[in-house]
Amino acid sequence: MSKLSEQLQEEVAKRRTFAIISHPDAGKTTLTEKLLLFGGAIRLAGTVKARKANRHATSDWMEIEKQRGISVTSSVMQFDYNGHRVNILDTPGHQDFSEDTYRTLTAADSAVMLIDVAKGVEAQTIKLFQVCAKRGIPIFTFINKLDREGRSPFDLMEELEQVLGIRAVPMNWPIGMGRDLCGIYDRMKNQVELFQGDDHSNIQVQKVEDYQDPVIRDMAGEFLHNQLCEELELLDVAGDPFDYEKVSRGELTPLFFGSAINNFGLQTFLENFLQLAPKPSTRQATEGPVAPTDEKFSGYVFKIQANMNPAHRDRIAFLRICSGKFTRGMSVKHVRVGKEIKLAQPQQFLAQDRDIVEEAYPGDIIGLFDPGIFRIGDSLSQGSEVTFDELPTFSPEIFARVTVKNALKHKQYQKGVDQLTEEGTIQVFTSTGVFDETILGVVGQLQFEVFEYRMKAEYGVDVQLQRLTFQFARWVVGKDIDPTKFRINSQLVKDKKDNFVALFENEYAMRTAMDKMPDVQFLETAP
Ligand code: GDP
Repeated sequence: MSKLSEQLQEEVAKRRTFAIISHPDAGKTTLTEKLLLFGGAIRLAGTVKARKANRHATSDWMEIEKQRGISVTSSVMQFDYNGHRVNILDTPGHQDFSEDTYRTLTAADSAVMLIDVAKGVEAQTIKLFQVCAKRGIPIFTFINKLDREGRSPFDLMEELEQVLGIRAVPMNWPIGMGRDLCGIYDRMKNQVELFQGDDHSNIQVQKVEDYQDPVIRDMAGEFLHNQLCEELELLDVAGDPFDYEKVSRGELTPLFFGSAINNFGLQTFLENFLQLAPKPSTRQATEGPVAPTDEKFSGYVFKIQANMNPAHRDRIAFLRICSGKFTRGMSVKHVRVGKEIKLAQPQQFLAQDRDIVEEAYPGDIIGLFDPGIFRIGDSLSQGSEVTFDELPTFSPEIFARVTVKNALKHKQYQKGVDQLTEEGTIQVFTSTGVFDETILGVVGQLQFEVFEYRMKAEYGVDVQLQRLTFQFARWVVGKDIDPTKFRINSQLVKDKKDNFVALFENEYAMRTAMDKMPDVQFLETAP
């Protein structure tokens, strides 16, 4: 085996690249910060906080930009723990939720689904879960805020199955809950983590025989211990056994309980997670599968971030490395344009200051300075050409009709729209009817604000957006598409590749159209 090949095997084996998926307020910022603290990346924890502090700022552009500037520095966070190199990909939530959030998930090898014990599965969790489930990546679930009164663990497990269609295997189990929470039992390692002292801040970890061990009774009291025994007996009999294969395929989710803010259950979560989560795996390309240990470097762009620094107006293309070793200054082929380019200025976003990376491996994300040559989904490769499968186009949920205030600016307008579509800021649709109209679709409201601002700032074009009442978009495929069937509470448009897309005002209109055209497919992502 060559030296490079050996090095690649070693580096790939230790990498874990994942994203945290959750609904706002479940505790993602808190969890991220705590995980980074475990890895000793304290400087970063500050960054996460800074971002948080800014997040609720007003939506005027400079604020957005500042906010994005900060969020971008923490777009990828890296730390070392127990011999692993961990990459956490940030998935913007709140008002900066966008298609970027979905695309980022394509760069992750696994996901941690964070759920508030009192709220259970929420809207944004469902959407993000579905994107992960489609890829079949392993999903780990962390039920947070156990220090508060919440729903019973069994109730939450049932909800995971009913709403998301995934069964859960509890890796640990709470001893009491809310004010009574006094510890967590680790079913895999047979140990208890007990929270002692008035504020429960004294965390003690102790090995036990099993959950019936009298040591737990001594520490937690008879009532809670009996309850624990009853619940775990039930799980032993009726619950799913741990099955690594099912976990790897994303069919079974290992379930953890804890409280991020109090550090309860975090260490066992992190350790179990790192052990079970997959290392970077083989990716599909047009030319065939690409193993991470292939010596030739390859990767793809999953996100383009503009205007991070108002003084430079530069763009950064985020590249997920899929195979080989990256070294600064190396030449690679930009497959779509067929040119060699030199990767001289790659950045990693470890802190407010952009650190320059000298080398990186599969699973790592690097930021490439982008003078306007990259599009979402572009592949870069060394040696022979490697073209990674196109990133899916996700169905937008907010729509607006766009018009240009000054007709003379039409050329600049077109240029701006093309550019912003390529970057994935917006999706553009054109009407199929008699009136020529352009409709923009986005996943998050902020994308419209970004579009308006950038059209003005970069292309000198004032646009007017008129919000439309559509809520759903489906790509329609089939022989018998009848445009006259899309008149009530719906509209038939075309995307930039001339695919038919139906926009619907409500679920009822969508169901009706589906019923009327049983032979037509209604797809959530572009064909
Ligand atoms: P995000 O919106 O998902 O990033 O959530 P944050 O991390 O900002 O947390 C939302 C709120 O929940 C904040 O007020 C946190 O302090 C709080 N929080 C986070 N984790 C816990 C926890 O384990 N217990 C309790 N009681 N509150 C928590």
